[in-house]
Amino acid sequence: MEVAGRRFTVVGAGRSGVAASNALARRGGDVQLVEARTDAERPAGLDAGVAFVAGTNAPRAGDVAVLSPGIPEVSPVRGEVAAAASEVLGEVELFWRLSPAPVAAITGTDGKSTTTTMLGAIVALSGRPTFVGGNLGNPLCEGLDALGPDHLVVAEVSCFQLTTCDTFRPQVAIVTNIAEDHLDYHGGFEPYQAAKRRIWQRMGAGDTVILNGDDPFIAAWPLPQGPAIQRFSLTDTAAEAHLEAGRLVVHGEALMSRARLPLPGGHNVQNALAAALAAHALGIPAEVTRRALMAYQPLAHRLQPVPTEDGLRWVDDSKATNPNAAAAGIRAIDGGLILLCGGSSKDADFAQFGALVRERARLAICYGQTREALAQAIGGDRAVVVETLAEAVAHARAAAVAGDTVLLGPACASFDQFKSYGHRGDVFRALVRGEPVPA
Ligand code: ADP
Repeated sequence: MEVAGRRFTVVGAGRSGVAASNALARRGGDVQLVEARTDAERPAGLDAGVAFVAGTNAPRAGDVAVLSPGIPEVSPVRGEVAAAASEVLGEVELFWRLSPAPVAAITGTDGKSTTTTMLGAIVALSGRPTFVGGNLGNPLCEGLDALGPDHLVVAEVSCFQLTTCDTFRPQVAIVTNIAEDHLDYHGGFEPYQAAKRRIWQRMGAGDTVILNGDDPFIAAWPLPQGPAIQRFSLTDTAAEAHLEAGRLVVHGEALMSRARLPLPGGHNVQNALAAALAAHALGIPAEVTRRALMAYQPLAHRLQPVPTEDGLRWVDDSKATNPNAAAAGIRAIDGGLILLCGGSSKDADFAQFGALVRERARLAICYGQTREALAQAIGGDRAVVVETLAEAVAHARAAAVAGDTVLLGPACASFDQFKSYGHRGDVFRALVRGEPVPA
């Protein structure tokens, strides 16, 4: 894409907005970064050549607009920006137009970060230079300047980001699974699924789409004609990657024993199968994939144990920000279970989740904004309602018996009482270990 001498307005001064602005300014673009918050200050790290304007979302007339993924699909701001701009794209689309390197992309409701970092570890071990980023936290545009044509970019891509992609063409794409999430953002489950399918809108012959063969929603999707379609499954031995007799099998070859994968839960087997299929499609030898998966270091706040000496098992699954993710965490735990759940609402339906909790947990302690709705779905005999996570931890400590697992599996976003899922997890860990609670 031609940048030098062209005018751009980047809308939204989050980390990806700053990364996009800098990438454009360094390529000679005439760039303005706007941020709706009136009290916003010029972001640290913003290139000196970028003009910064607080208190507006409006692009300069005729500019190419780069839209923040934080602006919901249903927001009128999208229309306003489109009316003023000559073209609207997102940071991932911008990255794609500027990147010399091919991309393997991972989307889906849950398991994106785990699958992305698994594939990133496999590619890195294969010796190919790689950049792993995107929705993971480090925007793709931050990696641009170091990339060459030999790199492979492993990109976690959210459905928010996909709504503003139009020429983005990954060589390999994974859809981990689909469950109801972010309905408030997209305005319903259908538009949410449609956003996910945008990942393959430009993929064609020679590309590979990797899908969850166990997912009932994906099973009903219209599929693209050009790219190869491959599936992973925990049960269907006809799938290109599957679990069979306790082993992960990929394209007919036993890759490794389930026991060698250092992560709990069937959902993590699915993540590993997806990453292994992608690695195969990229021409990486199975031996490299096996070694990388065996050495994989789990990410923080995803079923992460909190070490204590009180005879209980405390587990931090703060990243389980919707019912589907929290359900996967619950299923991964054997034995007596006390669940701590709750947080801010994303309009999720808790009926199915409530039934699972009743079946698997001895007690559920519901806190935060959604506490009453969760307790109602779980059933009054099994659920206790408190206000804060601190009270929930204290209640769990009093109710637990030796050998129990106390799981923080919120099933909700964190923004009612915390800055982020990471902050919530850190507070939980501090409360459990009797350490100072981070502000
Ligand atoms: P994402 O980046 O999509 O949020 P993560 O890998 O960060 O996914 O995992 C988030 C949470 O989702 C984890 O805490 C775990 O409980 C759950 N999870 C991970 N992988 C899966 C999966 N394949 N299916 C369902 N839930 C999952």
